[in-house]
Amino acid sequence: MTRRAPLSRKLAAIAESATLKVDAKAKALRAAGRPVISYAAGEPDFPTPPHIVDAARRALDDPANFRYTPAAGLPALRDAIADKTRRDSGLEVDPSQIVVTNGGKQAVYQAFQAVVNPGDEVLLPAPYWTTYPEAIALADGVPVEVFAGADQDYKVTVEQLEAARTDRTTALVFVSPSNPTGSVYTPEQTRAIGEWAVAHGIWIITDEIYQNLTYEGAEAVSIVAAVPEAAGQTILVNGVAKTYAMTGWRVGWMTAPKDAVKLAANLQSHLTSNVNNIAQRAALEALTGPQDAAERMRQAFDRRRRLIVAGLSEIEGVTVPNPLGAFYVYPDVRGLLGREWRGTRVETSLELADLILDEVEVAVVPGEAFGPSGYLRLSYALGDEQLQEGLQRLQSLFS
Ligand code: PMP
Repeated sequence: MTRRAPLSRKLAAIAESATLKVDAKAKALRAAGRPVISYAAGEPDFPTPPHIVDAARRALDDPANFRYTPAAGLPALRDAIADKTRRDSGLEVDPSQIVVTNGGKQAVYQAFQAVVNPGDEVLLPAPYWTTYPEAIALADGVPVEVFAGADQDYKVTVEQLEAARTDRTTALVFVSPSNPTGSVYTPEQTRAIGEWAVAHGIWIITDEIYQNLTYEGAEAVSIVAAVPEAAGQTILVNGVAKTYAMTGWRVGWMTAPKDAVKLAANLQSHLTSNVNNIAQRAALEALTGPQDAAERMRQAFDRRRRLIVAGLSEIEGVTVPNPLGAFYVYPDVRGLLGREWRGTRVETSLELADLILDEVEVAVVPGEAFGPSGYLRLSYALGDEQLQEGLQRLQSLFS
């Protein structure tokens, strides 16, 4: 074999997205004719509302959309995002502080690139969304996990954050409502964490992509609304994917202090340039058009949320904190581990998820994808009938 220089060590250390992997396996089994029910996807099952799709169709008739546009985003969309940020996050921003990105995912990546230097420690509340540790590592930072279990509704406290802080700590990830747990921090909890970060000069990367999906009257108060002094050291990440059933359109954004947003915009100008103009026009309609379709989807999620929490709670050995946001439930399944199910001894939630898929053809994501073993993530963004059928299969497996 001829000699060849090595591959990138940095990228070789990055793991494939575990959630996408489970979802792909479920989809492949279904394509092969198996009646798989998947709670694995992190996306709404609804089609994008028609008025948004129509805006995209109209955009196709305008040749201006066939050209490069400003890398940071269409001015009209950035204006609409500034309005939304004022409305929903209580933060006054100039449109020049906004960069429109290819999904919230690119915003997450660019946020860490903008504020992390090699060796910096980034506090990462666990369970966490799988992309954060990898995005931190890609910025040469070191993710420092701070775990909160079901007994604290998966929400970290200031005391835990303080115990994990060192003189290398430069940033904190704050996500409410959370993926994977659906937990929503109360305004008081949010304020305490924001004040702590300000006191120590720590950057806050706050991911607000689920901020419009809350239930039972819970409100996901933005950390910059709770602590206005935090605005100068906070990057907000958001997008249209979850609220408007637009995961495939790939439109998100980041909002940051002027100096930080400049770095991110420079990076994006070399990485991807502007987001697809047709998708940006659709996102503009999503943010500025009628909101009733989004509200109907939220109500459907709420109904399914109650169904799945009730169904899972009937299984002995499973603890189900009541999630008040997003579209996930995160049961603590440690009571099912260290036991034999249908002749197989199961020690970890990874093994449990495999068993569930093999025995009853239900796809769930094991806690190992988001932090410690002992938990499962189930997305309830699927049809009511499928949801019920899946619950019956799980109940029969563990009865
Ligand atoms: N943040 C969180 C917490 C998410 O769950 C997701 C999607 N799974 C994203 C960001 C990224 O969303 P998108 O790139 O589709 O806008």
